[in-house]
Amino acid sequence: MAAVIETDVAIIGAGPVGLFAVFECGMLRMKCVVIDALEAVGGQCTALYPEKPIYDIPALPAIAAADLIGQLEKQIEPFAPVTLLGRRVEALLREGEMIVLGTSAGETIRCKAVIIAAGAGAFGPNRPPLDGLAGYEAGGAVRYMVSRREEMRGKRVVIAGGGDSAVDWALSLKGVAAKVTVVHRRPKFRAAPETAAQLDAAAAKGEVDMVIPYQLHGLKGDGSTLEAVTVATLKGEERDIPADHLLAFFGLSMELGPIAEWGLGLDRHHIAVEPSTCATNVDGVFAIGDIATYPGKLKLILQGFSEAAMAAHAIHPRVFPGEALHFEYSTSKGVPGS
Ligand code: FAD
Repeated sequence: MAAVIETDVAIIGAGPVGLFAVFECGMLRMKCVVIDALEAVGGQCTALYPEKPIYDIPALPAIAAADLIGQLEKQIEPFAPVTLLGRRVEALLREGEMIVLGTSAGETIRCKAVIIAAGAGAFGPNRPPLDGLAGYEAGGAVRYMVSRREEMRGKRVVIAGGGDSAVDWALSLKGVAAKVTVVHRRPKFRAAPETAAQLDAAAAKGEVDMVIPYQLHGLKGDGSTLEAVTVATLKGEERDIPADHLLAFFGLSMELGPIAEWGLGLDRHHIAVEPSTCATNVDGVFAIGDIATYPGKLKLILQGFSEAAMAAHAIHPRVFPGEALHFEYSTSKGVPGS
């Protein structure tokens, strides 16, 4: 028989923000179940940029994304959340005061509140429209993420894109790859000014080749192993860049999947929330992290962390009706359950 799990709070998404929500709920003595469609916790940090340093987590001058997730796992350990990985939350229904979630693995989760921390939903890369792309993807020559920098050691790497990922990976792979070439269709990058300046400096020193303004035009090779990436100007002037790998960073496509069917107020593929509580328009359902939107929203991990605290406090009266919540700092008694 399919499992029925009872909990105080069900958290959809085990990205950095969903994981921290376990901590904030745990501090208020609320039990959590966390569900994620991926096979590992960490959301975008684990799936897209595990080795990239993150510089804007308060009090951590630099931390690799995978290490941040490791620390979050350690931080929530005392609260022993039930973590269900490799299954999607497909359904959200109401049974009186309780909310009932159904997963793709057949579990039913009955809870008093839901926190949706589903990031970009079922996210996937935006792919360049190139002939024969699927074969080169299958062969690993064309990629949209790099799990380990070492995979690119000694390789000729073409990086396409003009955002943070393209700039960060160009800087990260110089000195590891045999050659790094950045292809972008505009002279200006949409990256953090500091890292864009570092890329300019690396280009000036000849550590990175800049091929600008060009865009991707074709792939040359045997259908799975790459020999060259063809790029072209808007006027159609073509050139070939010898390459073993093309790393294409054209952003992520957002796909809310089943979440779009749950009657939530949406604003351009995001869930609209009340900013002081992160409550959605559906009673008992809260949204935090990248998926939540309100005026002034920043898609940053640190902002998601703060939203996790606000949602947990707003949920407390639903789990402990009539019980006054005496606000306490984490330092006064340590972590409950530890
Ligand atoms: P996510 O990390 O997207 O996690 C959401 C999780 O929800 C996913 O694992 C997904 O599988 C799961 N999910 C979705 N729908 C369902 C469903 N129906 N059922 C089950 N599971 C579901 N931010 C910073 O603050 N600093 C940085 O330096 C920084 N660098 C970045 C570099 C890159 C290359 C990228 C792509 C992003 C970067 N970001 C950075 C942004 C940061 O990663 C996001 O803000 C953060 O991951 C959002 O966390 P989240 O928990 O809200 O969502």
